Amino acid sequence: HVQLDAAQRSADNDDLPAATCKLPVPQMLLCTRRSRLKKIGQRVMVGDRVEVVEPDWDGGRGAIAQVLPRRSELDRPPVANADQLLLVFAMVEPTLDPHQLSHFLVKAETTQLQVCLCLNKSDLASADEREHWQKRLQQWGYTPFLISVHQTLGLIDLGAQLGDRITIVSGPSGVGKSSLINRLVPSSDLRVASVSGKLGRGRHTTRHVELFELPTGGLLADTPGFNQPDLDCAPEDLANYFPEARARLAMASCQFSNCLHKDEPNCAVRGDWERYEHYLHFLEESIVRQEALNKLS
Ligand code: GDP
Ligand code: ZN
Repeated sequence: HVQLDAAQRSADNDDLPAATCKLPVPQMLLCTRRSRLKKIGQRVMVGDRVEVVEPDWDGGRGAIAQVLPRRSELDRPPVANADQLLLVFAMVEPTLDPHQLSHFLVKAETTQLQVCLCLNKSDLASADEREHWQKRLQQWGYTPFLISVHQTLGLIDLGAQLGDRITIVSGPSGVGKSSLINRLVPSSDLRVASVSGKLGRGRHTTRHVELFELPTGGLLADTPGFNQPDLDCAPEDLANYFPEARARLAMASCQFSNCLHKDEPNCAVRGDWERYEHYLHFLEESIVRQEALNKLS
């Protein structure tokens, strides 16, 4: 099942620009893929905008003739056209672990989507703690939304950030992702897409993606809760996933173009920034993984 939107065109007005064709009411069609798409191996992903021909509104059926160009394409979760990634952490319960947060942030940056950070359970944190994290994360290059789902704090600002965009929600389990989605999505009846690798698999399996419709027109994709994402990036790319390192590289270059920012002379990245230690740690992990991969191939 994929999202139908204004780009839908019927068979006999193929030449009309998409915007002139309005769907009567939000409606779902169960669609098949035209054989031409199958032949060229064109898959249809959750989040895709598609051209539906011969829609049978009464019977609720249609056929997908074309997949429109994608703005973005994610592999895990398999979602097309996502605009941003919302990383949710809790300020307390579980205790905010800077290293784990860093790990998730770097993983989030590898998607190349805009990364937004949201700290939930601010009701359980002291004013000092809130200020501490706000300042500290600014230095990491992020402006976090401090929210409390339970006390309805900060949800308006966060909602404005979600807007009409497609947002992937990620974060460790227990931080309040489900609570947040339940709050933002007025009714689970508004679920607009659901894909399972196999029938009978529930939410929170890696092959399952659902898009939830926000009142503002945006869509939310939930991802399975996991506590330690794999950092499957190449050592030479790692610095690009730290805003602090990117800022330094925008000001100056390293002497060597293949600098790993470790102990090379005249390195622009190495220096006095809090997460440089995290960078070195992830770099080691990434080098070890690359060596293991090289041995296998
Ligand atoms: P998920 O695993 O990330 O989906 O987290 P859940 O939504 O299941 O929430 C985990 C726990 O945190 C539940 O007991 C929630 O009631 C609690 N929780 C969620 N949001 C808040 C909040 O804003 N404040 C507090 N104090 N607890 C919250
Ligand atoms: Zn360097």
